[in-house]
Amino acid sequence: NDMHTDKKYLGRGSKMAAKLIKGIEIREEILGDIRKEVQKISNKYGVIPGLATILVGDNPASISYVTLKVETANRLGFKEIQENLPEDISEEELFALIAGYNKDDTINGILVQLPLPEHIDEKKVLYAIDPDKDVDGFHPINIGRLMLGGSEVKFPPCTPAGIHEMIIRAGVNTDGAEVVVVGRSNIVGKPIANMLLQKDPHANSTVTVAHTHTKDLAAHCRRADILIVAAGVPGLVRPEWIKPGACVIDVGVNRIGEKISEKTGKKVAVLRGDVDFEAVSKIAGAITPVPGGVGPMTITMLMQNTLNSLKYKLGIMQV
Ligand code: NAP
Repeated sequence: NDMHTDKKYLGRGSKMAAKLIKGIEIREEILGDIRKEVQKISNKYGVIPGLATILVGDNPASISYVTLKVETANRLGFKEIQENLPEDISEEELFALIAGYNKDDTINGILVQLPLPEHIDEKKVLYAIDPDKDVDGFHPINIGRLMLGGSEVKFPPCTPAGIHEMIIRAGVNTDGAEVVVVGRSNIVGKPIANMLLQKDPHANSTVTVAHTHTKDLAAHCRRADILIVAAGVPGLVRPEWIKPGACVIDVGVNRIGEKISEKTGKKVAVLRGDVDFEAVSKIAGAITPVPGGVGPMTITMLMQNTLNSLKYKLGIMQV
């Protein structure tokens, strides 16, 4: 779809060769489209997307992710229900709550914020969510659908879906491209590798997946036309690993310290990606910054999945 192949998200920073792929701008454009579509559906069908977010305990990172999800859903005119559950809630109580939302017609998406406390079996919880409301895309049925590809895909997991969308919108050619993914987690590495090898003009890549047992990681990275790094190791990828002109997607979000925010005067985390940004951006053709790159895309795709869930239900988008 050439409509999405738009160079306007690419900007050149001073002294760097690479174009910057700006996740924040892409996010605003997608959220704008979602907001308009919510209005249209509301006018025509009298319904809005509904999202239930479930938070257990008070892990500060989880609280800030959930707060951002809730704020975004509200901004888009979704119905949003937030459950803040105590750390010591039993598995049975949590399952009962999920079962309630599975049956609730006004809820199209159910999200349980991970990680969960030790006494709760994360796998059992994810399996308890109705696959047709699993907007995180973590249920085995949705992972199977992703593997099959094409029109089978219902809810692609949000971070890989965001990465894919960024690559497409930045106008980077994936067809026949050598893609190297560093990291094989279930939430980033495996699904993005799978998405890019599908038989589709926005995929059709030759994909290599690297991990800690990979021999000569540098040599693999040097072959990459598109290098996607999701390892969780700050500064892992060096400039000499980059093929000149390659597209580099840095998924890593590593807290390397704290600083006082100039805007708010509050303490905030200093974040660094998995790529040596300064040096790599002199060699790459396009690169995502950290923060402001892949990060903002994840919640955006969660909102897209929730809207899509309602559209599937209304029969206005085919599965
Ligand atoms: P994860 O579950 O810890 O997996 C890391 C993967 O990287 C593993 O497959 C590991 O290999 C591989 N790896 C680690 N060190 C390596 C090295 N030195 N060389 C080669 N491979 C190496 O991580 P994740 O959940 O996928 O997250 C990865 C990073 O992305 C983290 O920084 C995380 O914060 C970030 N993240 C960001 C977003 C977002 O922006 N929205 C979302 C999710 C994750 P093994 O399998 O062999 O151990």
